[in-house]
Amino acid sequence: MCGIFGIIGHEDASRLAYFGLYALQHRGQESAGIVAWDSSLESMHVHVGMGLVPDVFHEEDLKLLSGETAIGHVRYSTTGKPQLRNAQPLMVRVRGGLQLALAHNGNLTNAAELRTALENDGCIFQTTSDSEIFVHLIARALSSSTLEQAIEQACKQVEGAYSLLILANGKLIAIRDPHGFHPLSMAKMGDAWVFASESCAFDLLEADYVREVQPGEMIIINEGALEYQSRFFSEGVPVRQCIFELVYFARPDSRIFGEDVYQCRKCMGRNLIRESMAEADCVIPFPDSGIYASLGVAQEAGVPYEHALIRNHYVGRTFIQPSQSMRQFSVRVKINPVHSVIENKRLYVVDDSIVRGTTIRTRVAKLRELGASAVHFRVSSPPIKYPCFYGIDFPSPTELIATKYTPRQISEMLGLDSLHYLSTEGLLNSVSQPENYCTACFTGDYPTALPTVQDKLSLEYRRRGDIRLEEKGVR
Ligand code: AMP
Repeated sequence: MCGIFGIIGHEDASRLAYFGLYALQHRGQESAGIVAWDSSLESMHVHVGMGLVPDVFHEEDLKLLSGETAIGHVRYSTTGKPQLRNAQPLMVRVRGGLQLALAHNGNLTNAAELRTALENDGCIFQTTSDSEIFVHLIARALSSSTLEQAIEQACKQVEGAYSLLILANGKLIAIRDPHGFHPLSMAKMGDAWVFASESCAFDLLEADYVREVQPGEMIIINEGALEYQSRFFSEGVPVRQCIFELVYFARPDSRIFGEDVYQCRKCMGRNLIRESMAEADCVIPFPDSGIYASLGVAQEAGVPYEHALIRNHYVGRTFIQPSQSMRQFSVRVKINPVHSVIENKRLYVVDDSIVRGTTIRTRVAKLRELGASAVHFRVSSPPIKYPCFYGIDFPSPTELIATKYTPRQISEMLGLDSLHYLSTEGLLNSVSQPENYCTACFTGDYPTALPTVQDKLSLEYRRRGDIRLEEKGVR
């Protein structure tokens, strides 16, 4: 999972890209990068590094990234080794001296197959990331086509999820895959055009939101142009936006897929509690992910809302830790209870999702210890049972708690008074166009052909950083 940002027509392009990436930091913490095009020098500069945006960029780096057009990328941290060579944007020089940079959010499902074919044909890859496939496909198609045609041909060959920003000399191109898995929106800032994975980046820059890039759409903005051109490269493909963006991934102050994420999460909470009322004295969220659904639960149930689990904001995401004992420890470091709110209270405890079950396992026993008289756990999404091939980083199915145990078994194991997940219908009732969503992680109903065995292994390798798979030639 990643965040992408682009801007064209502003003298401070790379500085604004820096702030834009700051707003998108939640979408990726492994690496950050910016590529800028300076038309007066006719050259492109890149700066990428491992870590968070403020650690990667310093004043002198931004000064070197001169020019009026820039794209940026933040990369999601997985359990595998973070590698600088996979940091984006990627930058290459192709036919006729054209300088090309690319930032990608999503996962291709036919990457291994395409890569093997390209390698057999003599292509040399610099990275192990699927995003580089675009670069090779575009570069090859350029021999007989315009840039836009070459990009379109590349898009027709890849399958899976891609929101893309491409910088080609001074031209900026924004693309969303035909299913529209991940978000990408555009805004206006004076004469400049701005693109970002989420609208929260526009708010920071005080840019005026224009609209989303549509699924299957390519938007082209030439250097110095005030207007954009739009073309569509697919027809008849059903829209399948990732519902998990609305459940967990996107920031609550963003607008994506035509939804206000904050209100959408509250609605999930309202639907959840309508499905699963109990006797409770107060509602407490798992911070921060459970907060917005909890508000919906509290308002719908007419029960007071309290903050009884306090988050230490200086700790990374729990799932990043490689071993189970470290994960449990890091949940304890991350979340600590407030005794006075819990004692002798019947609690609704709300989180947006259960993945491995580490968070719930580690903290629920503590609520009991501190004197909660009842714990009714409520989850504002259905059980996650299936892998995501489109960019959300879930562990392999064997590590997902919902593939091994029923809600009743989990409830018994953890000594809960009750456990309820939001139904898939309840989840889809929380959005305005339910037919436009991918719910594969809950239902197993995948909108594309499944990845090849090679691609599945490759995803598994990336997830676990397992060197043995690399030795077998799987990237
Ligand atoms: P777990 O402790 O493994 O059950 O994970 C559940 C917690 O992780 C919840 O608080 C979620 O908000 C959060 N979460 C859900 N999906 C993801 C994901 N793909 N990456 C990181 N955290 C997640």
